[in-house]
Amino acid sequence: MGQKGSFCVLLKEGPFGGYRIRITAINHCVGGASRGLKAKIPHSYVPVMGKRAHGESWRTLVMKITEILRQRALTVSFEFFPPKTEQEMAQLFETLREVKKLDPGYISVTYAPGGETKEKTIEIVRRAKSEIGLESMAHLTCVGHSREELRKILDELKISGIDNVIALRGDPLKGQTKFTPHPEGFKYASELTAFISATYPFCIAVAGYPEGHIESPDKETDWNNLFHKVTAGADFIITQLFFANRDFFTFESAMRKKGVSVPIIPGIMPITNYNQIMRFTQMCGAKIPEDVARELGQIRDDQEAVQDYGVAYATRQCKQLIAHHVPGIHFYTLNKSKATRRVIENLRSQG
Ligand SMILES: Cc1cc2nc3c(=O)[nH]c(=O)nc-3n(C[C@H](O)[C@H](O)[C@H](O)COP(=O)(O)OP(=O)(O)OC[C@H]3O[C@@H](n4cnc5c(N)ncnc54)[C@H](O)[C@@H]3O)c2cc1C
Repeated sequence: MGQKGSFCVLLKEGPFGGYRIRITAINHCVGGASRGLKAKIPHSYVPVMGKRAHGESWRTLVMKITEILRQRALTVSFEFFPPKTEQEMAQLFETLREVKKLDPGYISVTYAPGGETKEKTIEIVRRAKSEIGLESMAHLTCVGHSREELRKILDELKISGIDNVIALRGDPLKGQTKFTPHPEGFKYASELTAFISATYPFCIAVAGYPEGHIESPDKETDWNNLFHKVTAGADFIITQLFFANRDFFTFESAMRKKGVSVPIIPGIMPITNYNQIMRFTQMCGAKIPEDVARELGQIRDDQEAVQDYGVAYATRQCKQLIAHHVPGIHFYTLNKSKATRRVIENLRSQG
């Protein structure tokens, strides 16, 4: 598909529409070839050198997530967290290779408050992109970091070829009930967003809360604060998980009325474990509808039945969201892709 000294451009239609573009270097002639490419590709694509797992050098065209959202009819994305052990890390990369087959628009990797996972978050997004070819977004939180520390992390992400960051305040540190900003850091995610936007070319996501943020006195106050995150420079919004689509629809409509026009991506977590989902929803303030809580309660000790229920419920939620023409769906995977894979297979088989 090309001679020495040229690039091979592969255009592949993704399963949910849109195209994936990969450029494979036949040799290492970067300057002239990339100049030639600029005429063919959108400005936001950035060539990045990387290595395939088996060592062959390659070159991908990467893009900002907003560009992916524009190109695909529906952008599916998956969220992972940095695991603790080496063994779990190896397992995560196996999962990422499996996930790649589902052709997600991008994956994202969380960041533990205080920077506990800093190295791992950066390593995973870098390797997911350069070794597996998954467009990746790094989460970044203000907790425990001065501006200078945040700047260093952002520099490192940029050097690692990452183009997408979700700017977050973060939750209070373990043992603390209230978020305390670093004396030389930021108090709100809007400040981090403005800082990144003014200094870096990252595509910036921020968090939105269809049911209002847990610390906020009411939804309206929280959604006004979200409006300020967008005016501070956010390019798109990913929501907290929710189980009643009407909460999302009300939230989205309220944001549009405020003049927010950036894409709003619903966050979906397929339920896989009764106790776990009860704990999570309590922590993040998401509500489980009464009928769902009742039905789940009846099968809570039957792990398989809970998973089947969770997959069926998330499938119904996604179908309704897709019919509503959401630009994407962000899946909270908890590092296990099976339930999400089943939801996607259901959506594909049910058209
Ligand atoms: C998609 C997504 C990804 C996430 N990833 C992570 C992660 O990787 N690591 C992690 O630790 N946590 C993560 N979280 C959780 C998040 O850190 C918490 O929900 C945190 O409590 C709030 O973060 P934020 O960025 O929304 O903060 P902010 O937008 O700063 O909001 C925090 C609170 O302050 C209020 N507020 C905002 N601005 C103002 C203002 N100017 N004046 C007064 N009040 C204001 C808001 O209404 C809200 O109640 C994620 C959440 C989501 C939805």
